[in-house]
Amino acid sequence: MKSIPPLLEMIGQLIAIPSVSSTQAQFDTSNKPMIDCLATWLDDLGFQTEIVPSSKEKYNLLAWIGEGEDGLVLSGHTDTVNFDQTGWNTDPFRAQQVENRLYGLGTADMKSFLAIAIEAAKEFIDKNLEQRLTIVATADEESTMQGVRTLAEKNRKPGRFCVIGEPTSLTPVRQHKGVFMESITLYGKAGHSSNPALGNNALEGMRVVLNELDKFKRELAEKYTNHDFIVPIPTLNLGHIHGGDNPNRICAECELHVDLRLLPGMQIDTLRDELHERITQKTGPLGLTCQFKALFDGVPAFETAGDSKIVELTSRYTGKKPKSVTFATEAPFFNSMGMETVVLGPGSIDQAHQPNEFIALSSLEPTIKLLQKIIGSICMQK
Ligand SMILES: [Zn+2]
Repeated sequence: MKSIPPLLEMIGQLIAIPSVSSTQAQFDTSNKPMIDCLATWLDDLGFQTEIVPSSKEKYNLLAWIGEGEDGLVLSGHTDTVNFDQTGWNTDPFRAQQVENRLYGLGTADMKSFLAIAIEAAKEFIDKNLEQRLTIVATADEESTMQGVRTLAEKNRKPGRFCVIGEPTSLTPVRQHKGVFMESITLYGKAGHSSNPALGNNALEGMRVVLNELDKFKRELAEKYTNHDFIVPIPTLNLGHIHGGDNPNRICAECELHVDLRLLPGMQIDTLRDELHERITQKTGPLGLTCQFKALFDGVPAFETAGDSKIVELTSRYTGKKPKSVTFATEAPFFNSMGMETVVLGPGSIDQAHQPNEFIALSSLEPTIKLLQKIIGSICMQK
């Protein structure tokens, strides 16, 4: 076993490697240098490692010790969001300590966790594990979630239990909402405004669509409630509309963008089908053509049962009740492979995606101890 750098140096090295993912190509970078760095450390520690290509120049890393199928996965994403240099007081790519804080892009969300997971796992290298311990590092969480989608598509289930170390201030999270975004375009026929019969007005048609969406939203809110969430109902937001070009021309085309947020138990596909059906039923009789387009692939709602082993363990060891959050994570994709997942990590989501992102140095050691307890409870037991 070769030695690896001390924890703060590992974090510093990870922060120094740019790994921005963005749906805007000019900001998007490969995460290969991050993956190679992590793989080298884990190889040196005696882990078996496998690099799984995700999409062009993007990779996931699986690294494991031990054999049993019912093991534990510690997972983190390798990418960060893009950053605005003008808001930063320090270099985002240089981890810098100021009093109790470590500043840098990805300190909270979530490069520190990957280093912490390695540090915690070090203790178990020479132990005889009954169940496998796996560290997973994924690509593109901040943009398309393609990294974890690839693992789910290939059914690369790396264990039975999973802790995703997103910043939750070390509170276990077992639920979040799902989301999908849809573009709805109505096509009518242009004509001179002086005679409505000369065309077919797509903007007038959109009024009917908006009414139907309002009805749909109310029905969903009546049908589904979950008081574990601050907003306990599914939401449907009207976010963008554009139609027509001239006040004296009948509007031939109108486009609307909506965002739907689902509670656990609601399925994206079912809801999307229902949305399409309701709208086409209303617009068909008006003689308007309707086209739907998914604005991104959507993230399913996430729920791990309150009485599952990983929820029970993490809530006992942290002394905190499991909660729900408003942000989406890779957790539903791990659960779709038949795993039991909690989101639990150091740092606060309030610092994520912000200039001057930091993690409290005092949270590092407790996280290592916590992970070691969880590893012990799952991987040292038959
Ligand atoms: Zn994150």
